[in-house]
Amino acid sequence: MSVNTALNNQPTHQCTFCGITNATLKGVMISDPGVNICQECVLLCVDLVFGHSAKHEGGDHREAH
Ligand SMILES: [Zn+2]
Repeated sequence: MSVNTALNNQPTHQCTFCGITNATLKGVMISDPGVNICQECVLLCVDLVFGHSAKHEGGDHREAH
């Protein structure tokens, strides 16, 4: 897993989830060999995860230990 924050104008990475390339994305692309995820999809996933946890844990975001 690596986070490349350097400016890259070449479409070398494409989000596995929505298909946007780093050249058109306004934000960061998190890349791993074989899979990439853009900032927009990360935020969408965060919404889903917290929405799911709010539904099943009464809105309490306690950490599970
Ligand atoms: Zn994406």
